[in-house]
Amino acid sequence: MILLSPEAETVLRARYLREDETPELLFRRVADYIAGAEAGYGQNAAQAAQAYYELLASGTFLPNSPALINAGKPKAQLAACFVLPIEDSLAGIFDTLKHTALIHQSGGGTGFSFSRLRPEGARVGATGGAASGPVSFMHIYDLATQVVKQGAARRGANMAVLRVDHPDIFTFITAKRRHDVLNNFNLSVGITDAFMEAVKQQADFELINPQNHTPVRTVPAREIFDLLVQMAWENGEPGLFFLDIVNKANPTPALGLFESPNPCSEQPLLPYESCVLGSINLTRLLTANKGQRVSLDKHKLTRTVRLAVRFLNNVIDINSYPLPEVTEATRKTRKIGLGIMGLAELFILLDLPYASQEAVQLTKDIMQAVTTEARAMSAELGRERGSFPAFADSIYPRQGYEHMRNATVTTIAPTGTISIIAGCSSGIEPLFALALTRRVLDGRLITSVNPVAVNYLRQQGLLTQAVNEQIALAGSVAGLALPDRVKRVLATAHEIEPAWHVAQLAAAQAYTDNGVSKTVNLPKDATCEDVARVFFAAYDQGCKGVTVYRDASRDEQVLSHGVGC
Ligand code: UDP
Repeated sequence: MILLSPEAETVLRARYLREDETPELLFRRVADYIAGAEAGYGQNAAQAAQAYYELLASGTFLPNSPALINAGKPKAQLAACFVLPIEDSLAGIFDTLKHTALIHQSGGGTGFSFSRLRPEGARVGATGGAASGPVSFMHIYDLATQVVKQGAARRGANMAVLRVDHPDIFTFITAKRRHDVLNNFNLSVGITDAFMEAVKQQADFELINPQNHTPVRTVPAREIFDLLVQMAWENGEPGLFFLDIVNKANPTPALGLFESPNPCSEQPLLPYESCVLGSINLTRLLTANKGQRVSLDKHKLTRTVRLAVRFLNNVIDINSYPLPEVTEATRKTRKIGLGIMGLAELFILLDLPYASQEAVQLTKDIMQAVTTEARAMSAELGRERGSFPAFADSIYPRQGYEHMRNATVTTIAPTGTISIIAGCSSGIEPLFALALTRRVLDGRLITSVNPVAVNYLRQQGLLTQAVNEQIALAGSVAGLALPDRVKRVLATAHEIEPAWHVAQLAAAQAYTDNGVSKTVNLPKDATCEDVARVFFAAYDQGCKGVTVYRDASRDEQVLSHGVGC
């Protein structure tokens, strides 16, 4: 019998369990199905299935949701992330819209760059009329997503990127100012090094029509940047996607450039590529040293990474992709995205404040260990099963690799749902609150207090009735008379300085092949300068993207529109 939290039970029952399926049977179904691929390589599938089952059922590693939901079905689609190209033609725009619907139906999320589309007002050759511009088409994609989602296993999610030098950039930045539009989209501005330089130098910046590559007009770079900061301050969007940083890390430049990541922005992909993600729950990898303090068990981490890489490779082999173009692009590079979750709780278990140099260093060390071991395993599989087909043209031979099964091995996903199933904090985010109140199906409100935080207080002999009540009430220990260290270890997302959020994001990115999903939280009274500082810090520290969220900004917006910072 697997021990699951009530939250995990609820989530599994709502969308993951089939009729008459228990959680044990779900994990068996997934393990058996994925292990099936081993047989094709002359390996013992039953043995692999048992190892995978133990990994999943113990909550040590979970693949992205589509793999849990669809494994075992005919033509099962198991990947979460897709990127599609949008060509500058009516046929191209609507072909991709159709492809998007098919991917959403299969449980995947889609990212697009709308940057190739000619700007609003540009000439349309076929009709002699004027183009309606990228943002108008985003609304059509949004509506289609809304309609398809009724029948899909999971909400379709989209990412729209527009290059910062596109003439419609102002319309794009303010596209979600009204709160009832584009709700199925996350927006990111595709930022170039040239733009950041122009902002720093207070210089002018050219907006270019992608149709004929000619400059349309010149604006002060600051004007774009300030509007971007203002909108991010107002409601957390758009985020920034650093195109040049991302493309410097492209493992297969011969195949093309990155234009967009997937919806939650952690996975830059080439047009038509897909990627399967999986995450290791760090809180399951602890060992107690002679009954003393706990520490991360390196041996368990290594073993888990190796199994997970094998698992994700099998997923690529047996995945049934919704489009032939996706099958082809994905099989050429065989990208996998192994990441971590439960980081914030690991820090608490190790008595480390999230906002500390020690914790930042640990994040870096963990991702270095994960990526190093995942690469070693990928090289081993490459030797056994063959390198990914685009290997010869990739960056790896130049780095001395003789084999590599995957063009990328690591990504840090948000783990929105799988962290609930695994019973740990999500991705690399700090705890949002120490207690959460949620409405259960019959309408009752239930408050659940974070068990790791409670245990931490209990071990320190600080868990009094009053402390318990205050946590349930405020979700935080900030207002309590507790030792400073304890308050720092239990600090929640909005109590952590934005600079530390960025430091953790950059630390995680340092050894991650793909991107990192993380929101930089800001207090409610943060200013636009604070947002700008976060953007510069993320860029200067080599992050591939950054998203901010100022406490309560979205609620506030509903009440008072046009508030300024
Ligand atoms: N995703 C999606 N719809 C959703 C949530 C997620 O399509 O409602 C996709 C999206 O590409 C996202 C990725 O799944 O970037 C991973 O999200 P997350 O880690 O939160 O998913 P989980 O596997 O925990 O469900």
